[in-house]
Amino acid sequence: MAVLRVALDLPLHRLFDYVAVAASTADIGLRVRVPFGRSEKIGVIVDVVETSDWPLEQLKAAGEILRDLAPLPADFLRLCEFASAYYQAAFGEVVLQALPVGLKRTVSPVRRAARAVRRAEVIAPPDLTTAQAVAVEAVDPAGGFSAHLLHGVTGSGKTEVYLRLVERTLAAGKQVLLLVPEINLTPQLEGRVRARFPDEGIVSLHSELAEAARERNWRAAFAGEASIVLGTRLAIFTPMPNLGLIVIDEEHDSSFKQQDGMRYSARDVGVFRARQLGIPILLGSATPSLESWANAQSGRYGLINLRERANPLATLPAVHMLDTRRMVLKEGVSDPLIAAIKLRLERGEQSLIFLNRRGYAPVLACMACGWVSRCTRCAANMVLHLADRRLRCHHCGLEHRVPKACPTCGNQDILPFGRGTQRLEGWIQEQFPEARVLRVDRDSVKSRKQWEVMLDRIHGGEADILVGTQMLAKGHDFPKLTLVGVLGADSALFAADWRAPERLFAQLMQVAGRAGRAELKGEVLIQTQYPDHPLYGALVAHDYPGFAVSLLKEREQAGFPPYAFQAMLRAEAPDMADSIAFLKTAAILPVVPEHENVMIYDPVPMKLSRLANLERGQLLAESHSRPALQAFLPRWREAIERIKAPSKLRWHIEVDPLEF
Ligand code: ADP
Ligand code: ZN
Ligand code: ZN
Repeated sequence: MAVLRVALDLPLHRLFDYVAVAASTADIGLRVRVPFGRSEKIGVIVDVVETSDWPLEQLKAAGEILRDLAPLPADFLRLCEFASAYYQAAFGEVVLQALPVGLKRTVSPVRRAARAVRRAEVIAPPDLTTAQAVAVEAVDPAGGFSAHLLHGVTGSGKTEVYLRLVERTLAAGKQVLLLVPEINLTPQLEGRVRARFPDEGIVSLHSELAEAARERNWRAAFAGEASIVLGTRLAIFTPMPNLGLIVIDEEHDSSFKQQDGMRYSARDVGVFRARQLGIPILLGSATPSLESWANAQSGRYGLINLRERANPLATLPAVHMLDTRRMVLKEGVSDPLIAAIKLRLERGEQSLIFLNRRGYAPVLACMACGWVSRCTRCAANMVLHLADRRLRCHHCGLEHRVPKACPTCGNQDILPFGRGTQRLEGWIQEQFPEARVLRVDRDSVKSRKQWEVMLDRIHGGEADILVGTQMLAKGHDFPKLTLVGVLGADSALFAADWRAPERLFAQLMQVAGRAGRAELKGEVLIQTQYPDHPLYGALVAHDYPGFAVSLLKEREQAGFPPYAFQAMLRAEAPDMADSIAFLKTAAILPVVPEHENVMIYDPVPMKLSRLANLERGQLLAESHSRPALQAFLPRWREAIERIKAPSKLRWHIEVDPLEF
């Protein structure tokens, strides 16, 4: 008789004990079928012991121990333990979210044989620039744990540095995990990696893969057959027997932070994992997060700089402000920008107009009675999408037809206010009837397939003017693109969210980086009413370090991260009063005064206070000491779990929150 301690996919911070007739510690890490309530679940055996805290006769018998997969290794379970403790997430949930769906199902579908690996055209590596060579030498794949921040301006050839380090890691017989923020970036990178390593097993892991493909790829990584794993954030948890290098590209990107379910940062988990395994991790970006930049300044991370573009003929684009205070705008666009687009058309070059707001207009309004298209479920407006004549809430997804007249007063003259990419696209097309205008946003590109088609069209020269959101800003190389125009950037300058300037700067630097990637010189025109704002000044000078220093100084003075450590308790319920009352109770729990190094603020409604009919409040816990916060959180969470809350109230804790 043995007792299996099993992790189950439940939001409970405990393991579940079952008895088994024959089991040994060799079974740790295997999946097991167990009875749960009236049904069955698949869990993971975390320990095999002889006794339980429960009387043995009360324990249920475990079902079959599944042996189709080798045991999940101890380092994987330790990684999950870390994530569980750090993020206050239930251990079982952490373990099981890392497994492909097929491995968690009690009835397993028929498995298909692995697909033959597609062969790619082999491309010889370029000679490294001096700066790249220095970067590659700075990281020693055999030297144990190290964390390096690779700060390289757009087009500086960071990918080439990754590829050389991958090469060295593979030569040592090890596996590589390469993370990118978005699925949309995987096809391009995958192409480059395959072309460089045609004989290696390369798999991708991201949420858009079909279930069977994801399981196949995951198994290949787990079995050590795939030597390179390309993935988005969840891939950081992939168990790999021989992992020798972790690379996180665009490390500043907020997509590495999961904002629902288990809330974790794949970048931070990555650093922990590298330390745990004694391997190097490389974080790359043209605009590092301030957290990473501060770590590089303090010497916790090594800092590697690539200050120039890799292609000696490509230079950084010239950035200019268009002072709109002295200009007449038509549909939000200034004459100099129109003239610049016209010039590109004449030269047969591409332009990109960046407006980070999709839809036709952010709101529809009635001038007669003041009605505006509010979402009935959220504290937000419904966005007008004229292309399919719908009003849509970008927060909860609610949508309906555009009304023919004002729903309140019957006035037929209801008007769109403000502008989004659809409206801009239409207007630009009217100005340049002969030009091929292509809109790129989440409405025009909904899947990875559509994105690949879109990229092919852009690369194939099938577009003269691109109108797009931040989708276009990241990691793409469009050789004929020489003009980037930026609209509507000012709104983020004075936002209440103190992280807004960091995000705006990164976004503008990234989108500006699309211009002049090849021999053709690039120009960036930013329309603004605040041409003297220091953020824009830093952009003109391509001065990320200077901007980072000034932002960090502000953060330090204000006592914000990375100079303080935070966790957010959030509650949502049909009534705001219930949410706030719950948070108030949490704020004065007896464990709170015992942790005098942790400061608890007053509960407040969230910025988007109502989402999908739930009223949301939040409460910030903060400390100047990470260990103090980490000691407080589990005790606080346990005490919160015992609060008697209304049945419809939901709550969670987010550690290192990015959004407020
Ligand atoms: P980043 O990721 O830093 O923005 P990329 O890795 O995409 O930059 O490289 C930018 C461009 O420079 C690409 O077209 C790439 O092929 C080219 N490139 C990179 N390294 C070199 C090199 N050593 N010599 C010549 N061209 C290079
Ligand atoms: Zn009206
Ligand atoms: Zn809504």
